[in-house]
Amino acid sequence: MSKVKSSETVKVVIRCRPLNRKEEAAAAGVTRTPGGVGGIVEMDMRLGQVVLRNPRGPPGEPRKTFTFDSVYDPSSKQRDLYDETVRPLIDSVLDGFNGTIFAYGQTGTGKTYTMQGVWLEPERRGVIPNAFEHVFTQISRSAADRQYLVRASYLEIYREEIRDLLDPNVHAPHVPNVHTHSHRTLELRESPESGVYVRDLTSCVCKSVKEIQELMNVGNQVRSVGATDMNEHSSRSHTLFLITVECSLPGPDGRRHIRVGRLNLVDLAGSERQAKTGVHGERLKEAAKINLSLSALGNVISALADGRSAHIPYRDSKLTRLLQDSLGGNAKTVMVATLGPAPQHYEETLTTLRYANRAKNIQNKPRVNEDPKDALLREFQKEIARLRAQLSHREGRGKHRKEDGEEGWDGEGDEEGEEEVEKERTLQEERLEEEKEAIREDGSLLAEEKQRLLGEKERMMGDLRKERDATEQLTAKYKAMESKLLVGGKNIMDHTNEQQKTLEIRRQEIAEQSRREREIQQQVMVQDEETLELRETFSSLQQEVEAKTKKLKKLYAKLQSVKAEIQDGDDEHVRSRQELEQTQNQLTRELRFKCLIIANFIPPGEKNKIMNRLTFDPEEDQWKFTPLVPAESQMKKRPVSAVGYKRPISQYARVSLAMASHSRYRAENIMFLDLDMTHPTTVSLDHRPSEVGPIYSPTDRERAAPFHMSRSWCQTPRAITSSTSTVSLATHSTATPTAAQ
Ligand code: ADP
Ligand code: MG
Repeated sequence: MSKVKSSETVKVVIRCRPLNRKEEAAAAGVTRTPGGVGGIVEMDMRLGQVVLRNPRGPPGEPRKTFTFDSVYDPSSKQRDLYDETVRPLIDSVLDGFNGTIFAYGQTGTGKTYTMQGVWLEPERRGVIPNAFEHVFTQISRSAADRQYLVRASYLEIYREEIRDLLDPNVHAPHVPNVHTHSHRTLELRESPESGVYVRDLTSCVCKSVKEIQELMNVGNQVRSVGATDMNEHSSRSHTLFLITVECSLPGPDGRRHIRVGRLNLVDLAGSERQAKTGVHGERLKEAAKINLSLSALGNVISALADGRSAHIPYRDSKLTRLLQDSLGGNAKTVMVATLGPAPQHYEETLTTLRYANRAKNIQNKPRVNEDPKDALLREFQKEIARLRAQLSHREGRGKHRKEDGEEGWDGEGDEEGEEEVEKERTLQEERLEEEKEAIREDGSLLAEEKQRLLGEKERMMGDLRKERDATEQLTAKYKAMESKLLVGGKNIMDHTNEQQKTLEIRRQEIAEQSRREREIQQQVMVQDEETLELRETFSSLQQEVEAKTKKLKKLYAKLQSVKAEIQDGDDEHVRSRQELEQTQNQLTRELRFKCLIIANFIPPGEKNKIMNRLTFDPEEDQWKFTPLVPAESQMKKRPVSAVGYKRPISQYARVSLAMASHSRYRAENIMFLDLDMTHPTTVSLDHRPSEVGPIYSPTDRERAAPFHMSRSWCQTPRAITSSTSTVSLATHSTATPTAAQ
């Protein structure tokens, strides 16, 4: 099914942003002092090295050096990063590989700038808009026998909930406030075919750069952002823009095959120290979730880089599950770690570099996804073939095309056919018109006969019109479907842009060359260290001592740097533990507050009821209420006690139903009992009528709507005279308190 390619490592590149105004001002203040402090990051783009200086360390402290696939200093352009690092990845996606680019780094270091950039300025456009452009340009340039279908989805993970940013229900009544509850949270699922995926995620077919940009804009409007001290528009969620490119192309076996490439463009929320970002309340809770998922990501990276641990904790967070394929699975992955050069963020910068350094060792196993079962392109092709068959059937050409939809792509031939048919139809109409005219003018026909013939012709014309409408509808549907598929070599605008194309290729070649050069440089560096001692021959003992001393010194320095590294690691560990404790304390305090409210304001009975209904869902990692009404499928079936009855029915009711005396509530299973016809019990009261007055005299209202309970009252209404003073038991309740007097 799929071609296995050899494994490859995750590509890790570093990007450092320029000092911002605040930092520049702070640095200007410091540089006045002797031994000034500017940026703390130095980069060697040729070697792919980052050197980090500790601004608070002792003067002799060795600098920390890290080597990566590429590094981009503050003067680098968006285009440089794209051409050298991203372009090859997107090309792989177009060839049917899965690809992931994710930006990682402290808040405010340029993750969103790298991924999105400034859309309106071509020079400052980030990875995502450039990728859009690239995908559609490549499609238009590909061979004419290829068909493509491009789909896009956009989601964010906000507080460990997956939200669909293109959900039509969220966009329909446009809600400017981001933190609404109208967001549906989605669930993660796993299938052997497509790995981990999000169930019910909206996915839109895109035909052009404009359309896909529109989608991104729509999604960005409902994305969760909020200001922190470090970044005014800090992303408070991890976002993932997913582009699926399906390509149908003829294989060497003569059949058409479908390749599916998925591109994940991930902009992570910033890793941050809560103290620095100055957040509290809701923001703190967001931060806690962000940090938890980022540390889960860190753990996954560590476990993968280690190579020894059998268990990779992908399930610890939504983020790591979504990136499961991208880290150690079927994908080509690029990680862009972003840094700031300011001395006050030394620790964070070091952490980011360590994180990135570890990720370099992750081995992925990318392969071409060929002919997966869930390819949408195949469905489209089938539907188009079906519509086309219907159309050609209508057009009476009888020239049915192959049902399997894998046949060629001859839109032009079709159009010619359509024109022919249209001409034919117009001719028919004209002929009918002429015939009608002839009938009207024919004097030899009777008036009646004329009318009949005219009516017939009229009907024929009506049929013709109906036929035409139906065909038009079908054609419109067919064209709409067809237009969603993009065809290689068709929308060629590059006859005029030939030069641009050549330029691009040249740029690509240069990027490739410099990449190779860097690789070789790095290899040479490593080899140098190893072979140095082999090549050395010593002419005298003295020389040997010198050489060995030199080597000892070198190794001693290395030992010191490793020791420092360990110390740093410990410090880092302590720091992150302290931070976690701090978060824990905050959350505990909040928990106590909630417990207090529950203890004082919710009755224990209610509380227990709620507690009994709660169950923990490990899959979703949250507590859920078991529904009060069991789900439809679990609902207990009513025992069918009697065939044909709605509900169980008593023997008595069944018998009386059979007697069929009452037709009114027959189906309702109401028991009819005959009323007690005996005379009411009467009690004589020893009162003189003049004193008591009328004991019972129905009011006007009662007379109008009497509640006769007993049939004896209905049938034999008897006037109650005041002299008899009889009180029926049935009317007792209605008797006024005067009766008691
Ligand atoms: P993050 O997403 O990492 O929190 P942003 O991408 O929002 O950070 O960047 C914060 C600020 O820094 C933005 O104003 C952005 O324009 C600026 N910035 C980031 N990287 C660069 C860069 N390489 N060149 C110029 N400006 C940058
Ligand atoms: Mg951001």
